[in-house]
Amino acid sequence: MEASPGLEQRREHIAAARELLTGIADSLWQVPGSGGLGELLGEVDALSASCDAARVAIVSEAIERGDASGGAAAMTVTQWVRHHAPSTRAGGAGQLVAVAVAFAKPCNQPIKEAVDAGRLPVRSAAVVVAEADRLRPALADGAEPHVLEGLIDMAAEHGPRGCRLVRPALLARYGQDGELQLQQDVARRFVALSQPVEDGTGTAEYRLVLDVAGKAVLEAALGPLSSPRPVDGERDLRGSDQRRGEALLALVGRAVAAGEGVGPHTKTQLIVTMDWDALASGVRGAGVVIGGPESGTMLAPGTVRRLACNASVVPLVLGSAGEVLDQGRAVRFFTPAQTRRLWLRDGGCTYPGCSMPPHWTDAHHLLHWADFGSSDLGNAALLCERHHTTVHSRRLAGRVVRDDAGEWVEWDLVLGSYDQLLAQRAAQEPA
Ligand SMILES: [Zn+2]
Ligand SMILES: [Zn+2]
Repeated sequence: MEASPGLEQRREHIAAARELLTGIADSLWQVPGSGGLGELLGEVDALSASCDAARVAIVSEAIERGDASGGAAAMTVTQWVRHHAPSTRAGGAGQLVAVAVAFAKPCNQPIKEAVDAGRLPVRSAAVVVAEADRLRPALADGAEPHVLEGLIDMAAEHGPRGCRLVRPALLARYGQDGELQLQQDVARRFVALSQPVEDGTGTAEYRLVLDVAGKAVLEAALGPLSSPRPVDGERDLRGSDQRRGEALLALVGRAVAAGEGVGPHTKTQLIVTMDWDALASGVRGAGVVIGGPESGTMLAPGTVRRLACNASVVPLVLGSAGEVLDQGRAVRFFTPAQTRRLWLRDGGCTYPGCSMPPHWTDAHHLLHWADFGSSDLGNAALLCERHHTTVHSRRLAGRVVRDDAGEWVEWDLVLGSYDQLLAQRAAQEPA
């Protein structure tokens, strides 16, 4: 085994490496033509990554010893770093300190190792640390090592952005039961469209915030409408943002024009694959959007159940071996004739106190489609978008009541009444 070089020797080598790099521009003409420059860049880059890792190690040690705080100058750690590492005065000192502090915690050991091994740049490590802190309280027992590994892999391969994008998938797989659902339900509360802000130039600006499901639905609808369309063989010169804006207007225009009539049978917009066990058990991740710009979006079970009521979403149910069990069970939709009778029967949203007219409602399956509810009128109720979400997220049961005066839908507004109904049904079923 080779002895590790002593400290003095290391400092000499480091100084020598720096000298070698100084004035490198003047000797680049010597680099052979094909590929030489790339190789050299790779070498210098690896050196720079090692430098980053070394800076973290030194700062960690300084924090541990107490060198970096207090003392005669009474500096903060960040000030200490800026003082001794002048390049960080342009930015990055705070991140360096944050990573060094995080690495002192045993739970972040795998991230530290990835940095030491040169697999992970310090900038990405900072994001992995932050993501791990966010995810940790939501994880199931024993899941942490897998999650850290997943975050490190994504960050190493795709940088900080990749690391953030993998969060829903990790939560779905390793989160405590219902954690992904909770996050998606919370995200839904942030859905917003601002008032227009006019700046006097004849345009108005809006700010739109959507949750994952909303984004998937909007993008699926915009996708085909916003692709470039040449006119008379001439290229479509509109930019992507302009095409998307005009596509959104076209969508609104179409919805308004549909007016009071029963809409035409909706074209396929969004295909969601769902894992049957996950959907039935109602925990963890159940659905993934496939196709289109939103493919790969992980959806929580409740989100999938609500979406499955929407005629523009086609669910593909997968068995435990990943086989397609049923291509959305063709009878999932109410026919236009059924819908017309439903409009007449319910007259609009059936949620207590809501006056939304029928053409702004969806037909909800009282016994959910995902629980094998049938598509007949005895199992249907009109709900507006808002109350449709309420009914699914609060898991409310409704039933069609008949008497001499006619038929109407009655809702049980006790939280979880739908689950009670399911339990009753299960108890009645012959074993
Ligand atoms: Zn529904
Ligand atoms: Zn309503």
